[in-house]
This record gives sequence, structure tokens and C-alpha cells, in this order.
Amino acid sequence: MSKVLILGAGYGGLAAAVKMQKAKIPFTIVNKHSYHYFTTLLHEPAGGRNDFEPYSVELSEVLKGPEATIVKDEIKGIKPAEKKVIGKNGEHSYDYLIYALGNAPEFFGIPGLQEHSLLLRSLETAKEIRSHIEENFAAYAADKDPSRLRIVVGGAGLTGVELCGELAEYLPHLASKYRVPDNKIELINLEAAPTILPMLDQRLQETALEVLTNKGVQVRTNEKIVRVGENEVELATGEKINARTIIWTGGVRANPLLSEAGFDCDPRGRAKVNEFLQSVDYPDIFVIGDSSCFIGEDGRPLPPTAQLAGQMGDHVVDNLQALMKGEPMKKFVFNYMGTLASIGAEVGVGNVKGFRAKGVTASLMKEASKAKWLINLGGLSLLAKKNKQFTKSY
Ligand code: NAD
Repeated sequence: MSKVLILGAGYGGLAAAVKMQKAKIPFTIVNKHSYHYFTTLLHEPAGGRNDFEPYSVELSEVLKGPEATIVKDEIKGIKPAEKKVIGKNGEHSYDYLIYALGNAPEFFGIPGLQEHSLLLRSLETAKEIRSHIEENFAAYAADKDPSRLRIVVGGAGLTGVELCGELAEYLPHLASKYRVPDNKIELINLEAAPTILPMLDQRLQETALEVLTNKGVQVRTNEKIVRVGENEVELATGEKINARTIIWTGGVRANPLLSEAGFDCDPRGRAKVNEFLQSVDYPDIFVIGDSSCFIGEDGRPLPPTAQLAGQMGDHVVDNLQALMKGEPMKKFVFNYMGTLASIGAEVGVGNVKGFRAKGVTASLMKEASKAKWLINLGGLSLLAKKNKQFTKSY
């Protein structure tokens, strides 16, 4: 029996694991945590909308079948020539590998950025953001330092915009809890490009900008962060902004393990794959999700999204089965469903199958995509269980 190893239980790895389980093919999944968390929703608990519990699910709850072996370990290296990977707790060998270790933050070499900024990447970092802001609001009573109430979010892609939308609704509640004058709060979103949300069309960008501005976010485009110090952001214009909370959402690159192992990668560290999602270097390794450089119809690598990772995770299992049986594999074709961004709890913007969506409609559509993912993982019972946990915390 061939040994199939899946690395990572994000959207790609977990979609593959669920499908392996359905196909009754034995596999081992290695993940840093015992749970999967909903990366696309992390702005919600970071911005105080809910507690953290609803945003993750234990792998043992989803992968209950006898086919699944769950190993908690953090992968530190890959040795493709020896068909093994190195974890913190030991080595794991394989005949076939599905690599789905996601992304890493891209700091673009900006001095001080990595050392002095918070990131929104995991449940832990979401908790860090929330408690850091709360601690500063609490401390404001003692020293009245205005930089405690100033929050800078670097980058107005989907992560930055969704986080700002959420924080804009949360901060007034925090202000009243700590008796902070809410007219002293400043939430600043800095974007180097001329527009926010470059993946959406101009009308949707304008809608998003208007919603954020009406919620009190200072959105500043054409403002490039060039240096970050302790409690200070410096812009290309020379302006310095003094803020105790600096959050970086300026971009991602692939998890570095592939380039470190000598895989042929693009400049963002993503391993080049063929039309079947196999690494161009090692046909026994499939690379999916944010670490995969898959060339789309326009000749450019597809951008990393949860939607893409999920579809790759599903497809890769068909190809793995075909490979194991010596049958022809199928080309991967990305079925782009659209992009949705929430701006706070009630409204959003986006496009779905080429149609513009905004306001409550976009927000509900985002809820529907969350429900679809939960049903895929654990059926209606998981959806019902999670829905009970999603109760607003303010
Ligand atoms: P991103 O790369 O999409 O956006 C980063 C933004 O930061 C860009 O607009 C960029 O111009 C800006 N930026 C970069 N350097 C800067 C600087 N020095 N100063 C100021 N601004 C700077 O990153 P993201 O938003 O984290 O998204 C990463 C990936 O995850 C994307 O592919 C995205 O589509 C996906 N994602 C999807 C969702 C969703 O579907 N709702 C949510 C979050 C992320």
C-alpha cells in the first residue's frame, strides 16, 4: 500500500484529506495544530465580532474515518530525493506527497517591518491584535498618549480592508468600555497603490472606499510604507505616523520550505507545477494552494486564495488516484466563482460569477461561502454546531 502524506490542514490540505477519506484511501495528514482554522474569517475575531472558538474545528472531528492518521507536527524541511519530510518531532516518509503548507508574510525588505508590526495570519495572531489594541485602550486612561488610540493597517488588499471594516465597528465599543473619547480614535489604512482592492472593478472599489470612510476609517492611497520603527511608520513622502498598533497586511509569499529544498519556484517562492498540479521537479509531489505556482489562462500564476486552494485540494485526489493506478490524470481548471470582502458585520462588496454584489447581499453571500465550506467538512451537523457558536460578542 502506497503511503500518502498531506502537509498542512488549511483550505487545500483539508479539502484533499476530506476527499481522500470519502474515497477510502489511507493517508497521513501532518499539521502544526490539532485544528483547522478559518483563515478567510480571522478579521472577525481579531476585530472583536465573536469569540475565537467558532473559527476553528478539530481535525479529529472532521477526519474520523479509519483511513485518516492525524499527526501534530511542524514541518521544518523536505528531502524530496529521500522521499521524506523533517518535522520538529521527527521524520515522515511518503510515496506520494501533497504539499499544502500555505503562505508566509511578504515584508518586501522594508526595514523594521517584521520586528515592529502585528500580522493577521492565525488564531494566535488574531488574539494578539485584539488584546494589543485592548491593552492600549486600557492604558490610555493613565497616560493619555494619543498614539495608543491610533491604529495603522498597512495594505488595502482584502485582508487590510476586511480588518479595517471590522475594527471600525469594534473600536467604539472598546472606547465606551474603557471610557476613551471615541473622537480621539484614529484607524488609518495605508495603501501604496492608487486604489484599494485592486482585484475588484472601479465601481466596487469606490463602494468599498465609501463604506470604509463612512465608518470613520482614514483610507490613504498612494502612501507607501518605507520603514517601520517601534510605534512609528514612515511613508515614502517622509511623513512619520506615531502609532502603538501597526498591523501589516501588505502581501504574502509561499512558505519558504520549497525554495529552501531547491524546487523550481517563481519570485514569490511558489513551486512551479504542471497542469496536473505535480511539481515540475518531482512527479510524486503535488503542490497545491498558496505554495503552488499554477499558470492560469492569461499566462500568469493564479493568485493565492482559499477558493483556489480548496479546488486544488479536491482535484489533486483524483489525479493521485489516477497516478497510483497508472491511469491518465486530468488537467486542473480553476472555476473562478468570484471574490467577496466583508466590511464589518453587515455589509460587503464583491463579484460573484461576473455580477457585482454589495451591501447586505455581499455579506450574506460571504456567509453562504462559509456555510458551504463547513458542510463540505462535516455536513449539516457541523454547520449547525458552528452556527450556534457564532454569537456576537458586543
Ligand atoms: P494582497 O497582496 O492582496 O494586498 C496587499 C496590499 O498591500 C496591496 O494592495 C499592496 O499594494 C499593498 N502594499 C504592499 N506594500 C505596501 C507598502 N509598502 N505600503 C503600503 N501598502 C503596501 O494581500 P492580502 O490582502 O493579505 O491577500 C493575500 C491573498 O489572500 C490574496 O490573494 C487575497 O486574494 C487572499 N485573500 C482573500 C480574502 C477573501 O477572499 N475575502 C481575504 C483575505 C485574503
